[in-house]
This record gives sequence, C-alpha cells and structure tokens, in this order.
Amino acid sequence: MLEFLKARVRRPAAGRDGKAASGVGRGKAAVSFAARLTLDSVSRRYDEVLALDRVSLDIAPSEILCLLGPSGCGKSTLLRVAAGVERPSSGRVLLDSQEVAGPNVFVPPEKRGIGLMFQDFALFPHLTIRDNVAFGLKSLTRSEAKTQAHAALERVGLAHYAGAYPHILSGGEQQRVALARAIVPRPSVLFMDEPFSGLDPRLREKMREETLAILHETRATAIVVTHDAEEAMRMGDRVALMRAGQIVQTGKALELYRAPKDILAARTFSDLNELAARVEGGNAATPLGRFAANGVPDGAEAIVCVRQRGVRLLAPGEGVPARVLDARFLGDIALVEVAVQGLDAPLFARVKESDVPPQGAEIGVAIDTGAVLVFAAGNGDWPAA
Ligand code: ADP
Repeated sequence: MLEFLKARVRRPAAGRDGKAASGVGRGKAAVSFAARLTLDSVSRRYDEVLALDRVSLDIAPSEILCLLGPSGCGKSTLLRVAAGVERPSSGRVLLDSQEVAGPNVFVPPEKRGIGLMFQDFALFPHLTIRDNVAFGLKSLTRSEAKTQAHAALERVGLAHYAGAYPHILSGGEQQRVALARAIVPRPSVLFMDEPFSGLDPRLREKMREETLAILHETRATAIVVTHDAEEAMRMGDRVALMRAGQIVQTGKALELYRAPKDILAARTFSDLNELAARVEGGNAATPLGRFAANGVPDGAEAIVCVRQRGVRLLAPGEGVPARVLDARFLGDIALVEVAVQGLDAPLFARVKESDVPPQGAEIGVAIDTGAVLVFAAGNGDWPAA
C-alpha cells in the first residue's frame, strides 16, 4: 500500500489538458491526483481532554472542506490526525478507501501523498527560497526538484526571488512561498491550518482568492481550518462546523446559513437580535409579531432570532413604534440601534448607508419573516446579551 501511495505522488506533471505543465508566465499549478479522505469515528484524547469525539467525515476527491469552529474545539487536532502528524486514539482514517491510520495500521505523513500548510509555516532561513520549496521533493533528482520548485514559485508570482533568502520576503510573500512548498509535491490532499491568520485583512482577502485559484487548478482535495465564518463560507465547497470535539453540522455555506442546526450555529453564520418568547398555538409571540415556532412545543420558552438585515426601518406610524438611538457606519451598510416599544433591549438593524434615519427620529420597525429563526430556549442558550 505504501508503494501505491508513493506512486501516486510521483506521477509526472500534467496540465488541465493532459499536457505537461508549461511554466510559462505565471504558469499553472501542476495537477494532483485527488483522493477521497474519510474519517471513520475518529477520537483523540490528551489525558483528561477528549479533543476529538467520534468524528466522521467523508471528503470527495477535489472537494474543499472548511473546518470552522471556535478556538480549542479540536480543529487543529482533527487536521493533524487526518494528515498523520498524530495518531487517533480510536477510529480510522482512509485515503481512497485504504486505511492509513487505525488500530493496526499507521502510514506516516510523508508516505501519504499529502501537503501541509500550518499556521507556523516557518521557512528555513539558511536555504534559498527555491530550496525551501524543493525541500520536500526528496524522491526527485536535484535538478528535477529545482525545476519543479521554480514552476511552483512561478505560479505564486515569486520566481524572481528563487535564489534569494527568506528574510527579504514580506509576510504575504512568505505565505505564498509556504503555499508553493505545499503544492509542489502535487499532494492528493492538502491540509491548511489557519493559513491566512497572520495577514492583514486586505492581504488575507487576496491570498484567499489566490489560494482558491491554485486549489482549483491542482484539483487536490483540501481541508482548510479557520475560525472565521466568512472565510469558511467563501472558500469551502462544504463547511463542517465543530464544537467541543464534535462535528455539529456539515453542508454548503448557504444550507448552514439558512438552516443552522441550533442557536450556536445560527450565531456563527449571522448577526442576530435575540428575543425571549413563549410559544402559543404554534407561534412564538414577541412585541415584534408572532413567528412560526419551528417545532418548539406550545407552552415552552423559545428564542426568536432576527437577522440584523431582516429588520426594516419604516416611517412613523408604520409597523411597531421605535426610536433611533445610534448609527454606526460600516462602509456600504450601517448598523442602526433602535429602541422598540415593548422590548427591553435595543434592536440592531443593518441597512444601506443611505437609508439611515437621523438619531432620535421616531420611526416604525417591521421584521422580514424570512430572516427569523426560532429555537427552543435552554441549555444555557438564553438570549445573548
Ligand atoms: P483548535 O484548533 O480548534 O483551536 P485544538 O485542536 O488545538 O483546537 O485543541 C483541542 C483541545 O485539545 C484543546 O482543549 C487543547 O488544549 C487540547 N490539545 C490539543 N493539542 C494538545 C496536546 N498536544 N496536548 C494536550 N492537549 C492538547
């Protein structure tokens, strides 16, 4: 099996059309032979801490899965176990249905045909940038490795730095070198742990786009770890939401946004107003209206979540009476804080910057029912302050 895995990474480069990658201009990243990655009830324990709790995931060849969750929920552990940097305490990891980690099998990462790009992607300061990229290409002759490293550097727009040393690079350029180093062995699966977290927002945006383009070119299967919901929704073909060592929900970004499984998932994907309500006759009653209770039984307490963009600001006399307390401009949109008759806490509305009423204005508010999610209250999930 090891030989099989090695063979896959050593196949010659081919472009999208099957011809050898040309390396002209910025060039294209060489195509990988994408693998299906399967985690079958994987757990990982560190003494008292159960960092992964029976995680099962199936990632299709060439799929980009973003692993999203708060700090400490087990994302990096999942990535390390899936990559083979660590062993699972129980459960199995499979690549194209072949077991690479399990009770009786463990294939080390360098034999799995994978690429790694971790948060601390340190480059070797004493090696040239080209040699940094070529570092993992041990199975090739030196000149072949050099040629391929050069092509990968060309792809990330840094071929002109090939002979220089890493200290001259900016943070964003170092990240691009790390990306070149991760893709150059043509991995069948790429594992990226918070790859953009060290960059300023504008550069992060650019690197995300660049990385997505390269992932699509290589067609490698990829897991990208992030704690940023917007990043996960932008990059992932699918998003897996993690909490306390478990996968809570997986799906396309829109599915998770529209139908989050619970209130914590809802808070992850949207900015919400949260109102306590009691359910009567299948509806949760609030001072802003009655909303379908979404299965929460009559007599139970519910939390009505209203997306901030679902709060409409109306003329006085329309909707529920309200007064504008404050407005903060966030660029194209503004966040308007309003006091609403019958509500203890202010309500927040995201509206077009040009639609912001003056501070102190008496207005009305109404809610778009499509922007409301109702969950059962309890388990500490009372309305967020
Ligand atoms: P995340 O990447 O989501 O921030 P981690 O996977 O790093 O989360 O950590 C998950 C949990 O496992 C945390 O409670 C963390 O303290 C613990 N943990 C991770 N790695 C180790 C380790 N090598 N030794 C002991 N505990 C660890």
